[in-house]
Amino acid sequence: MNWILKTLKIGEKIKKFLKKRPSKEDVENSDWTSCCKGPVLKKNLEENLWVCSACGKHHRINCKQRFDIVFGNNNYEILETPIPKDDPLNWVDSKPYKTRLKDARNKTGMNCAIMIAKTKINNINLTTGAFDFNFIGGSVGQAEGEALIYGVQHAIDNKQPFILFTASGGMRMFESLIALSQMARVTLAINELKRNNLPYIVVLTDPTAGGTTASFGMLGDITFAEPGALVAFAGKRVIQATVKEELPPDFQTSEYVEQKCGFIDCVIERKDLNKKIGSILSILLKKNSDINSLSNDTSEDDKTITKAAS
Ligand SMILES: [Zn+2]
Repeated sequence: MNWILKTLKIGEKIKKFLKKRPSKEDVENSDWTSCCKGPVLKKNLEENLWVCSACGKHHRINCKQRFDIVFGNNNYEILETPIPKDDPLNWVDSKPYKTRLKDARNKTGMNCAIMIAKTKINNINLTTGAFDFNFIGGSVGQAEGEALIYGVQHAIDNKQPFILFTASGGMRMFESLIALSQMARVTLAINELKRNNLPYIVVLTDPTAGGTTASFGMLGDITFAEPGALVAFAGKRVIQATVKEELPPDFQTSEYVEQKCGFIDCVIERKDLNKKIGSILSILLKKNSDINSLSNDTSEDDKTITKAAS
C-alpha cells in the first residue's frame, strides 16, 4: 500500500503548486470581470452601460439594470406578479428543484426569472418585462408564464404597448409539460394583445434560445436585438451534427439572424434602445408631435407643389 500513499502525497504536493481556480461565486462577487483584453473593472463596464468599449461586447445584465438603462434610473414601477405553487412535480435530479429555486431566489432577489414593470418612454405609458438569465438560465416555468400573462393583461387593461426583453435558455425542464404549455399560454395572451391593436415589441438579448425563441420571442410586431446576442432554437453543435456541415462562425448571432434569416428587424446597440423603442412606439401609436408635424409639413409642401403645378 505504500506506493499508493506515496503517489497521493506527490499528488498533494503538485496541487500546492497549482493555483486554485475561483468558483462561480468568487467570480460573481469580484470587482472584476473579463472581456477581450483580459480583466475589466465592473465599475468601468457599468459606466459604459455594461458594454465593452474595446470590442463592443454587450455583457449580460439583470432586470433592474435593464430598466434603468432603457427607461431611466428608477423611472419605473415593478409590479407584483402571481407566484404559483413551487415544484408541482416534486422534481429531484442532482439536487431537488426546490433547492435550485431557493438558491436562484437568494442569488437574484427575484421570485421568478421575469420582472414586470410599468413605465414611460417618450411620454407613452407602457408595460414591460425582462428576463434575468441568472435565475436558472432565464428558463420559463409556471411562474414565468404567469408573470408574462400578468404583464400582457396589465398592458391590455391599461391600453398600453408591451415591451419584452428576453434572455432565456428556453422552457424549464424541471417542470416538464407544465413548462412547455407556457409557450401556448403566452402565445394566446400575445394574440389577445394584438386583437386589442396594442403593439408588442421584443428585444432579444444574449442569449435567447429554445422555447422562448420558438414562441413569444418571435411574435413581436417589431423584433429588435442587441449586437452579438445568441439567438437560436437548438444549439450549434446539435445542428452541425445533424446536417453534417460546417456552420459559419457567426451562426446564430443576432446579426446573422437579421441578415441571413430576416427574423430580426434591426440590431440595436444598448445605448440607442430608448430612442429607437420610443420612436417606433410613437410611429405605431401616432403620438410623436415631431413626426406628426413633419408629416403635416410634407403634406403642406405637397399641397404647394400641387397648387404650383395647377
Ligand atoms: Zn471586450
